[in-house]
Amino acid sequence: MARLHEFQGKLLLQQAKIAVPQGRVASTPDEARAIAQELGRPVMVKAQAWVTGRASVGGIKKAATPDQAAAAAEAMLGMKVKGFTVDRVLVEEQLEIAREFYAGVIVDDRAQAPLVMFSSVGGTGIEEIAAAHPDKVASVHADIESGLQDYQARNLVRRTGIGGRLQRDLGTLLVRLYNVARTYEARAAEINPLVQTADGKLYAADCRVTVDDYAVFRHKDLGIEIAREYDRPPTELERIAYAVEANDYRGTFYFIQMASDFEKGDGYVGFHGAGGGGSMMSMDAVLRQGYKLATFVDTSGNPPASKVYRAARIILAVGPIDGYFGSGSGVASQEQFHSARGLVKAFLEEHLSVPAVIRLGGNAEDKAVEILERVNDYIPATVEGYKKDDSPDFCAARLDALIKAGELRDVPPPQPRPKPQKPYSFETVTGGTVTFDHAICATCESKVCVKECARQILSLNDEGLPILNITREEAAKGRCVECLACEVECLLHGAGGGTIHLPIPGLDEA
Ligand code: SF4
Ligand code: SF4
Repeated sequence: MARLHEFQGKLLLQQAKIAVPQGRVASTPDEARAIAQELGRPVMVKAQAWVTGRASVGGIKKAATPDQAAAAAEAMLGMKVKGFTVDRVLVEEQLEIAREFYAGVIVDDRAQAPLVMFSSVGGTGIEEIAAAHPDKVASVHADIESGLQDYQARNLVRRTGIGGRLQRDLGTLLVRLYNVARTYEARAAEINPLVQTADGKLYAADCRVTVDDYAVFRHKDLGIEIAREYDRPPTELERIAYAVEANDYRGTFYFIQMASDFEKGDGYVGFHGAGGGGSMMSMDAVLRQGYKLATFVDTSGNPPASKVYRAARIILAVGPIDGYFGSGSGVASQEQFHSARGLVKAFLEEHLSVPAVIRLGGNAEDKAVEILERVNDYIPATVEGYKKDDSPDFCAARLDALIKAGELRDVPPPQPRPKPQKPYSFETVTGGTVTFDHAICATCESKVCVKECARQILSLNDEGLPILNITREEAAKGRCVECLACEVECLLHGAGGGTIHLPIPGLDEA
C-alpha cells in the first residue's frame, strides 16, 4: 500500500471540508519560523516520516514562539527515523483540545467491503482502543455502490453514547471521510486523534491515508513515486523493480530487498517466489535450512517470461548471494515454461555462478524443467528444476546441498554477440527489441522459433527466414507477448540467430 505523508492526507481531508489545523510544510528552519510567524500563535512541529511513534523519537514538538519552531525544525530536519531521513516538517497551530475521538475507513478484505469505524475515545490505535473501551467503539460496513449514508454514520456515533449536535457533526464528518477514502481508493483512511476543541469544533489533528497499490496509477495527482508501503526508504533496486512493474501491467512483480552490504558466504539467498501462500511456505523452507533472505520477490498472476527475466536480473544484482531459490504455489495453472525461459535468459546473461534450485510446479511442468536444466550446458553453476510433487523443504535441502558442495563447471563466459549481418527487428510492448539475424537463420535447420512462438505471430518467408506475420505496430502493442521462445529455444535447439534485448532502466546503466 502506498502511504501518504500526514500533510498530504490532511490536504485531501481539507478538500473534503474536514477541518485540519492551520499550517503547512517547511523544509528549512527559516521556513518553519516564517510559518509560525504567519500563524501568530503557538504551533506544533511534526516530522513528516512514514512511521508511528514519532513523538517518542523527538519527531513531534510544541513551539511557543517562531524561534522555538525554527529550533524544533532544525532538530528534526535530517534526522533518521527508522531508516527515513526527515526532509520536511509540518508546522501547524496548536489546538486547545477538549476531547479526542477516532474515525477510520478501512477495507475489510474478508467482507470485501469498506468498514467504517468510530470511537468516542481517541488513542494510539483502533485495536488498542477497542480492547480498552469495547463499549465506545462501533463499526459498520458500507455498501460500495451507495456509499455511507448520513443515517448510518449518525447511528454509528449514537452507538458509542454520543447524541445531539455532536452526533450530527461527527456523522457528517464520517461521511466526508468515507468519500475521501472512496475517491482516492484508500485501503485505509484514519483520523486519530479526531479532536473537539474547547469551542466545540472538530479537527483532524493527525491522519493516516494509504492508497491501494493497484489504484495509484489512477491518482497521479497524489505524486506517489512507488506504490508500495515500505517501513524505510526504497532502495535503488526497489525503485528499479517498481519501474518494471509500472511499465508492464501483465502479472505481478513484487520486490523487497531484505539485505545489502553482505559478503559471499554470509548465507544470503536470493528468494524468488510465485504466488503469495506458496511463496511464504517456500521462504520458510529456506529459513529452516539456516539461510537468510537477500530478497523477497513474487512474480505471479501469469507474468510474461520477460517480467520473470527482469525480476531474476534484479535479484542477481542485490549482491554476492550464495544461492538462488525459486519456488511458489506448486500447482500454478499457467504454463510454467514461460517462467523457465525468463530464468534461463537471466542466468545465461549473468553467467550464473551460484547454485539455483527452481520449483516450477503446475501446468506443463515437465517441459519447464527440461528447458530450465538445459541452461547447465552454458553456465558454471548448477541449476536444478523441480515439480509439484517435490516439497519446498526438499527443494531447499537440495539448494543447501549444492551450496555446501560449492562445485562450479569450467564454462567460459559468453562472448559478446557479433553485430547481425542481416538483421530483421521489431519492437515489443515493454520497449524490448527482437532481432533475427537472417544471415544465421539461413543456416538453421530447426526454425524452432516459429514453432515455439506462443502467439504464432512468426512465419517463414519465401526464403525460409523467420518474419512477423502481423504488422510491427501490432507486435509492439502486445501481440508479441515476450515469451522469449525465439531467443531461448533458438539457443537451445536452433542456430543462435534470434536475440531479444529487454532494457531494465537503472540496472543496465549501472
Ligand atoms: S531458430 Fe534461431 S537461427 Fe533458427 S530460424 Fe529461428 S531465429 Fe533463426
Ligand atoms: S516473437 Fe513470438 S516467440 Fe518471440 S518473444 Fe514474441 S511471442 Fe515470443
